[in-house]
This record gives sequence, C-alpha cells and structure tokens, in this order.
Amino acid sequence: MKWDEMRRSDEVEDRRDERGGFGLGGGGGFSGFGGFRLSGTAIIIVIVVSVLLGKNPLVILSYLQGGSPVQVTQHAAPTQAKAPPVEDQTAQMVRAVLGDTEDVWGKLFAEAGKTYTRPRLVLFRGAVQSACGRATSAVGPFYCSGDQKVFIDLEFFDELHQRFGAPGDFAQAYVIAHEVGHHVQNLIGVTQQVAEKGDGASEKVRNALSVRQELQADCFAGVWGHSAQSRNLLEAGDLDEALRAANAIGDDRLQQEAQGHVSPDSFTHGTSAQRIHWFKVGFESGQISQCNTFKVAHL
Ligand SMILES: [Zn+2]
Repeated sequence: MKWDEMRRSDEVEDRRDERGGFGLGGGGGFSGFGGFRLSGTAIIIVIVVSVLLGKNPLVILSYLQGGSPVQVTQHAAPTQAKAPPVEDQTAQMVRAVLGDTEDVWGKLFAEAGKTYTRPRLVLFRGAVQSACGRATSAVGPFYCSGDQKVFIDLEFFDELHQRFGAPGDFAQAYVIAHEVGHHVQNLIGVTQQVAEKGDGASEKVRNALSVRQELQADCFAGVWGHSAQSRNLLEAGDLDEALRAANAIGDDRLQQEAQGHVSPDSFTHGTSAQRIHWFKVGFESGQISQCNTFKVAHL
C-alpha cells in the first residue's frame, strides 16, 4: 500500500506514554474488531465485580457472555515499555490510512447530501479510558460510539502477524477501516437501530444483530479499499493481506482454535467466509448501498 501518498490525519491522539486510567465511564456502544462486544455499562459492572473478586475481568466476561470458559491470554503490560518514538512508521501509517478514510467518507457523505464528522483515533499501550469504560489491549482495537473514537494498541498489529498469520500494511489498514466503518454506522444511525432492536431481546438475537453489524463494518472497510485501489494506492498482494486477516479472525476459526468446537449462536462477528465475502462486496462495488447486511436472508 502506498500509504506515503495518503494525506495524514490530524485526528490521532497519541496516548502511548500514559498509563490507562481507571475511571467509571459513561454510556455508548463498544464495537471491537473480533472478540468482545459489550455495552459500556456491562463493562463497568464487570470490572467492578472482578476487582471485588480479585479475578481477571476478561475471564468473567467470557462467562457472562454465556459461552464456555474461554482461555484468556493476559498480555504483558506494555505500559512498562519505554516511551515510543514520536512518529514511528506504524503511527505514520495509521495517520495516513485514517486521513484517507476521512477523504473517502467525506466525499461519499457529501454525495449523499450529508456531512461526515471525523472520528478521533487514540493510540494507547496496555489499557485506556474511553467513554465506554476502561479497556485493556486484550479486547483488541475497538470503536466507542460514546466519544466517537477508535482505540488501537499498535501491538495488535504484531499479534495480527504472529498469532493470526496476517502480516502486511493492508491487513492493518483493514483493521483501521473496519473500526472507521463502525463510526460510519454510528453517524448513519445503524448503531442506534441495532441497540434498539437488541434491547430486551435474547442473547441469540443480539448476537445475530452483532454479526450483521460487524459484517457491514467489514463491507464499509472494503468500500474504502475500493477507493484506494481506484486511485492506484494499492500494490500487488495488498488485497490478499486484508483477506488473510478477515479469514484469520472469523468467529468459527477463533472458536475452533480456542475450544475445539464451534457454536454459531454465540458468533458476534461472523465466520471467516462471511468476513471475506462482505469485505469483497465493498471492495468490488465501492458502494455503501451494497453493504446492507441487515436486509439479506443469507449472510
Ligand atoms: Zn467490529
């Protein structure tokens, strides 16, 4: 990906040399990249309870989510690491991709007679405070609708490479574009609609809604990718990098690896095949209208 040719965003907050705070945040939806997805209130409650019990919050989260106990790998706290270089290559790339999504979504919104409000993107290490509560790197990159910010610990990109076997800058760009996709959903009212439909519904129904929401974010990431490709900003192998990432983080694959079997009712992000499919739908068409994952009978 020729990210050096992309405009750098001014919306990046670098909080990598801060320690994640421990305050009680407000509301707002919490949309992760793959893995946990909870309301802000749920997170706060779980953190408080787990502190009382002296347990790892994520272990309790996995029980609360109704699944069988999931092995939670606690990463070494990167807060102890030395202060990062002010503008390292990866941070530059993040700035460039975010800037490019601003231009693409700004144009798409303008064409629809709407105004695109840019999200902020927070770089952090270890743990971070958001309007959705405090989160650790273990939840992966996420978007919080409460403060309209994307949160990324750049170590996730190493994990994407090492653990998920998905290296490459375009795999990383896909992650950023997916989170920006959640911001777009917030602006166009999808996030609100999903919350309303899920309110009081069974967990099975809420999970099914989550899958449709996540696959739409994948499709929106593809819409951005389509634009980047049309401007000759992609290189050979880039599309494969994104598809490898989508394949690696499908719910079916993650569950198979974690628990040796697959429980489709507990999927929150979609299967590998679905994630690949919907990224491709956006990438090939470049049209938001093709990303209506809530309308189709079969995802
Ligand atoms: Zn997501």
